[in-house]
Amino acid sequence: MTKKLIKKEEETKKKKNTIKDTVTDNTHHTDNTDNTDNTDKTSVLCVLCDNATAEILFEDNTFERILKIFATSKEAFTYDKLAELLNKKPENIRQAIGREKTYFEIKKPDGKKAVIHLSHIAIEKINLRIANFKQKEAQKQQIEAEKEKKISKREELIIEAKKFFDSCKKSIGKQLKQGNVIIINFSDLAEFSLELSDELMGNPEEILRLMELAFEETGFTSDIRIRIINLPEDCKIFIENIRSKHLNELISVEGRVVSITDVRPQVVNAKFECPSCGTVISVLQMEKKFREPSRCSCGRRGGFKLISEEMVDTAKIILEDLQEKTDNPHTRRLNIFIKEDLTSPKNIKMFTPGNEIKIVGILKKVPMQMQKGGLSVRFDLAVEVNSVELSEEEVDINKFTEQEIKDIKSLSKKIDKDGLDEINNSFAPHVYGYEEIKMH
Ligand SMILES: [Zn+2]
Repeated sequence: MTKKLIKKEEETKKKKNTIKDTVTDNTHHTDNTDNTDNTDKTSVLCVLCDNATAEILFEDNTFERILKIFATSKEAFTYDKLAELLNKKPENIRQAIGREKTYFEIKKPDGKKAVIHLSHIAIEKINLRIANFKQKEAQKQQIEAEKEKKISKREELIIEAKKFFDSCKKSIGKQLKQGNVIIINFSDLAEFSLELSDELMGNPEEILRLMELAFEETGFTSDIRIRIINLPEDCKIFIENIRSKHLNELISVEGRVVSITDVRPQVVNAKFECPSCGTVISVLQMEKKFREPSRCSCGRRGGFKLISEEMVDTAKIILEDLQEKTDNPHTRRLNIFIKEDLTSPKNIKMFTPGNEIKIVGILKKVPMQMQKGGLSVRFDLAVEVNSVELSEEEVDINKFTEQEIKDIKSLSKKIDKDGLDEINNSFAPHVYGYEEIKMH
């Protein structure tokens, strides 16, 4: 290195040091050491923030308003200029800046007015504010988009449900002559619309209500109850295997009725509407304290509109597992409850103690009743029954009569000719749900 060059280096270092005295950070700073006089242009540290964002990001006090000026422009300012922009006295500006020294860097070139710009710390803080704001905005947009998706999904499902009802209006017409109840075979629904049946499994309360609404919208009748039978195998759960992970899911349980209480109008069913997406959420009021839904599936929490409140007839039933079907040597019991039309004299007969029944229902959390009549903070699981059927008689292949065996043999010949479905439907019509056995 030549002497001249070394000298030049030293000079540069000196100049840098003088700058460092006033500018603690020079990373954003154009390292133009030959042009030190021009500091107010070259060393301006800035953040880029559009005016609309700045309006939200900064508060309405002198200090924040100064930050706002810096954040939205690339310039450095004098006290006088800031005072003019904010319509304040220069003294106020000095005070405001003086209180938050770490936010500013002030350079006072000889014989010139002090020039102020943001410090590195201030820039980091403001950039963080901007980043947080943008993140929140993005989250808001995402929630908004999900809400819209949810609403359109809901509308789609309503249309799907209407189409389904249309596809089986004959059978529905027959059922409605008996009362405002539509019994739907799950496999029929799944065959017609996988989307609807899938949603029903995971979110039964909402989808049942949606299907009821869809039916009511057809104008046929109002206040309909949809009852689902014949859930797929993987929804059938032994009482001993019921866990809180099954909460709010549609499950199917088989068991023997141990006991049933009298029917009492004791549960209030309160219906709420979500103002965000229109979903109707019903909450069984089993506690003394009036309960609102905790949240809607669209994400909303609180502020739900109460649309109706009614007393419903209920009865509580204890079900025990069918020992012969489980490996567990201990009898497990399950609380279930029925309401509305299921408590009618005709339906309640199904729950006669000793009866073996197959229920479809939604597992719910209910507060435990304490001895003294108060309510415990502990919760118990209970199934709100959606549908009930008497269990089929056990089919024992060894108990077939000679005539039946003969029939089976002759029918089995026909299988090749007419196909399985045909045979299944005609053979042993009193044996429902044992297709596999019938086929052997
Ligand atoms: Zn909602």
